[in-house]
Amino acid sequence: MAVKGELLIGEASFIGKGKAFFAVEQTTGNRLGAAFHGATPDDVERAVALSWEAFQAYRETPLHERALFLERIALNILALGDELVDRASAETGLPKSRIEGERARTVGQLRLFASEVREGRFQELRLDPADPSRIPFPKPDLKLRNIALGPVAVFGSSNFPLAFSVAGGDTASALAAGCPVIVKAHSAHPGTSELVGRAIQRAVADSGFAPGVFSLLFDAGLEVGQALVADDRIRAVGFTGSRRGGLALAGIASKRKQPIPVYAEMSSINPVIIFPSALESRGDEIAKDFIGSLTLGAGQFCTNPGLILIVEGRGVDKFVSAAASYIAEAAAQTMLTAGICDAFKGQTAKMEAKSTVTVAGRGFAGTTLEGQAVLFSTTGSAVLEDPELQEEIFGAASLVVRCAHQAELEQVLASLEGQLTVALQMNEADTELAQGLLPSLELLAGRILVNNFATGVEVSPAMVHGGPFPATSDGRSTSVGTLAIYRFLRPVCYQDFPAALTPSAFRLDRGGSE
Ligand code: NAP
Repeated sequence: MAVKGELLIGEASFIGKGKAFFAVEQTTGNRLGAAFHGATPDDVERAVALSWEAFQAYRETPLHERALFLERIALNILALGDELVDRASAETGLPKSRIEGERARTVGQLRLFASEVREGRFQELRLDPADPSRIPFPKPDLKLRNIALGPVAVFGSSNFPLAFSVAGGDTASALAAGCPVIVKAHSAHPGTSELVGRAIQRAVADSGFAPGVFSLLFDAGLEVGQALVADDRIRAVGFTGSRRGGLALAGIASKRKQPIPVYAEMSSINPVIIFPSALESRGDEIAKDFIGSLTLGAGQFCTNPGLILIVEGRGVDKFVSAAASYIAEAAAQTMLTAGICDAFKGQTAKMEAKSTVTVAGRGFAGTTLEGQAVLFSTTGSAVLEDPELQEEIFGAASLVVRCAHQAELEQVLASLEGQLTVALQMNEADTELAQGLLPSLELLAGRILVNNFATGVEVSPAMVHGGPFPATSDGRSTSVGTLAIYRFLRPVCYQDFPAALTPSAFRLDRGGSE
């Protein structure tokens, strides 16, 4: 299936009439094929109108049909074969092995949501029967179920061109919930987006659903995404990207006549606390794993370990020099876009220029499109005085914070913004110290790990990939794992409904009890 640069609006595919932009082969900076054209306001209107038309029927599709639909998408993605892997690798600069892994995760995610839909638990069907004899007032019959919110706008992320993009976690969970989806393709991987979009478009047709269940729009600027979020028929937004982008979209959503939820995953530096006993006995091993995690995928993971917290004492100097020697072996890696690479270089240069910061180690230097891994070091008091030291640097850069004592480490922790993850490197002898920190760590992050780094995110019913602001715009949610479906649902109560009027979801054959 060739990449044609076409918008996918319901069942139609055509070249847009908006501004042109090109896909880029990231390792060379060369253009990849013909131009893509953005959607016009009429295209946006058409996609939203179709999604609204499709919504009522789609949200009531029998659960087994909706599950089959998600499985069809997975099969169609696999059927794209090497073409998808080659294109995604070319557009992102990520190695093919990484893209293959991501494809497996994307397909697995769709299948996990299919089984979640079949089970039907997400509907939260609750029956609280009437009690006419209750004194002093008779009790009404109450039933509750979750219903789909409505059409969802999804903004794919640049760093996961499959697993967090067109058919990624946001789309899979919204479709599973019964919401039509309109994706605003990320401009860094438009060809990949089109291929995956066609896989979804075909699955919609093969399932016999209304075509508006899915559309894919391109844009050379920001207008298409902003128009989608402002449209009153769009009822929720899924986003992964920069804090600036997430806040801009959340701002538009909150100013609408009917404000809507924006689930934006934005910025996190994922602190790692290395406790004294672990540092002394396993410093070298921890340093090796830390640098491995930091440099994975050119450091372009939202769960990248960007801050290492340690208390001055035995093993600290050895740890820092071990980490410096491991980072010295790190190859320069192609970054996702020229803009992300420039931002990385600008932010690392700014960090280096600070009088309170020293460069503890660096990886190999690279070309203009490659990022050079870097490890900085500073003190706890410097971090407390300079909030800029806590800003996310997207790429393979991390800051070791040497705290004068445990109380200072706790002060630094208390000063941090909300995080996706916090990781503890600890031995049994560190348990009491860790126990003391746990209550504040629970308030700080969505996931707390022991003796691991956060860059692997398991897709599981028990996963939380979310956290207090600015890790996400709504810390009550997760964008990975089956719990993600609840972002796109809303409870409705049915009081004293006669059987004939009661929604079929409550019938036994639909997973209910009547
Ligand atoms: P981005 O610039 O925020 O873009 C994400 C998506 O939102 C893109 O589709 C973009 O459109 C759109 N967008 C951005 N700002 C917008 C606005 N004001 N109005 C409407 N649409 C808007 O993120 P990115 O390009 O993926 O990466 C840039 C930075 O984001 C990185 O350097 C990093 O700091 C951060 N990032 C964080 C994570 C994370 O997981 N926390 C992941 C990836 C990136 P275009 O496609 O037209 O640009």
